[in-house]
Amino acid sequence: KTPVPSDIEIAKEQTPKHIETVCRELGLSNGEFELYGSNKAKIGLDVLKRLEHRKDGRYIVVTGITPTPLGEGKSTTTIGLVQALGAHLNKVAFACVRQPSQGPTFGIKGGAAGGGYSQVIPMDEFNLHLTGDIHAVTASNNLLAAALDARMFHENTQTNKALFNRLCPAKKGVRTFAPVMLKRLQKLGINKTDPAELTEEEIARFARLDIDPETITWQRVVDVNDRFLRKITVGQNPTEKGQERVTGYDISVASEVMAVLALATDLKDMRQRLGNMVVASSKSGEPITADDLGIGGALTVLMKDAIKPNLMQTLEGTPVLVHAGPFANIAHGNSSVLADKVALKLAGTEPEMEAGYVVTEAGFGADMGMEKFFDIKCRVSGLVPDAVVIVATVRALKMHGGAPEVVAGKPLPDAYTEENLEFLEKGCANLVKHIENAKKFGISVLVAINRFTSDTDAEMELIRKLSLAAGADDAVACDHWARGGLGAVDLGKAVIEACEKEKEFKYLYDLDQPIEKKIETICKEIYGADGIELSDLAKNKIETYTKQGFSSLPICMAKTQYSFSHDGALKGVPTGFTVPIRDIRASVGAGFLYPLVGTMQTMPGLPTRPCFFDVDLDDEGNVVGLF
Ligand code: ADP
Repeated sequence: KTPVPSDIEIAKEQTPKHIETVCRELGLSNGEFELYGSNKAKIGLDVLKRLEHRKDGRYIVVTGITPTPLGEGKSTTTIGLVQALGAHLNKVAFACVRQPSQGPTFGIKGGAAGGGYSQVIPMDEFNLHLTGDIHAVTASNNLLAAALDARMFHENTQTNKALFNRLCPAKKGVRTFAPVMLKRLQKLGINKTDPAELTEEEIARFARLDIDPETITWQRVVDVNDRFLRKITVGQNPTEKGQERVTGYDISVASEVMAVLALATDLKDMRQRLGNMVVASSKSGEPITADDLGIGGALTVLMKDAIKPNLMQTLEGTPVLVHAGPFANIAHGNSSVLADKVALKLAGTEPEMEAGYVVTEAGFGADMGMEKFFDIKCRVSGLVPDAVVIVATVRALKMHGGAPEVVAGKPLPDAYTEENLEFLEKGCANLVKHIENAKKFGISVLVAINRFTSDTDAEMELIRKLSLAAGADDAVACDHWARGGLGAVDLGKAVIEACEKEKEFKYLYDLDQPIEKKIETICKEIYGADGIELSDLAKNKIETYTKQGFSSLPICMAKTQYSFSHDGALKGVPTGFTVPIRDIRASVGAGFLYPLVGTMQTMPGLPTRPCFFDVDLDDEGNVVGLF
């Protein structure tokens, strides 16, 4: 339809297939999926075993140029591309996307189901509770937070012996260790399984974690943009005996539990990662883990359903896996390894079968999401991608090329809505740098030009010419937003062709390099920096993490997404800058170190006029006002 109706109007007009039909179309048998109503299903991980013999389908990552307030349409393009492949080019094609957080859905950004005629439906279910995975993350995260404060409380009010007796209560006169305690004993080098054999010194070391409150990194979380929880004091009731502590809340998707969900390769691996999460240091500098608190198993139990990917569908009835949604700055901003793995098997080949396609989306610009996709996610999964699609829009490129600032609520300046090859050509430098970066990983690189109705053919041609000159395998204009999958058929064909090319996938850095070197490699090679400058705090952290044995973890840069540099105001391709590394933190369970470049907000706030003003139910009980 022209003009294109609103996202929710389009979504409401289409009646989704019963999700069981989608499951059957994918060849899933009874017991391999669980229905959550008629629009969503969870896929059990057993399917990976049944299809183990299959060769994986083709693996494509969608990323974008440096984001601008004008939006680039990565999600829209991910969905448009799979609609083209699945509904118009007769391929099995999956989209793998992140579950959006309720914070932005009710805050500023709105939902993340794609847009126009390229969407995941029903978009209200997609954008709101889905199947409760984020709630499970919240529950798991906060159980750990409660365990941490309670343990400190008990240690502060009891002797070693009393602590020990309560941790290992006597049943019929016999004390035993809970299985999770054996892990701690092993860590302490105490090779005993009978509590009765522990010496007094061993009892003290085992029972008293001796957490240094100053070193606590674990916060509570909630899936709401609640700025007043950024800094709080806990323990104010008299029952807590004056043990007040200043702490804070993050938004749920910033929890390390979410990053673990996204990187776990199976249930056992998730159990291990959750248990290994470091929440603080002891007063003698030892890292204190969730398993030291005895809680790794319980956290996993809370996450056992969340680990199964969620199946939904596009407007054109093709499959979409929605799973995990880690923050894209302090975490790696990619959907789950397991969703990709399941999709790659379901789209995989046996003799006589044609390969299908799995299109997965990486958050933020390619300098952040794509680099982390390759160096963190692919390293964990061992999966080898075939192609990367970089999404660009004319208007965003013009902004990178120096077109006038856009003021919220005011009409776009003419430079954006009329042909302007000058700003566009200048701004293409940003795209070119992302293409050059992507090529460093040794796979095919495509550019998808997400077309807006006011874009001209000459503008499309200019982007195409400059992309090809920069070494892209192809650059294709598409208008899937206005036309659905049909508008991305050329992109689909280009993807099919690109996947057939020889590739030599490689990571940007080796894990065994020193922490400082790995950070420097990313900053120089991907951001175009002259070098890095470590604060004293960052230097100390490097020393600590190296001592604690965490130096071989990959690096997850916590940098602004709005620039290649650390200064969000510098658009285009900034040069001549040194990246200041303020601090370095560790997500040991998820498995990465994250250097902080500037301050990172992990709890968004609500603006004066949040999206929730528009959200309501109509007389029939349908959700209205989401976008
Ligand atoms: P990203 O994933 O890069 O954040 P989205 O795909 O979520 O971006 O798109 C952001 C918004 O822009 C959505 O509301 C979508 O409807 C809109 N949009 C995307 N592509 C187009 C287009 N070609 N024309 C008009 N609007 C578009």
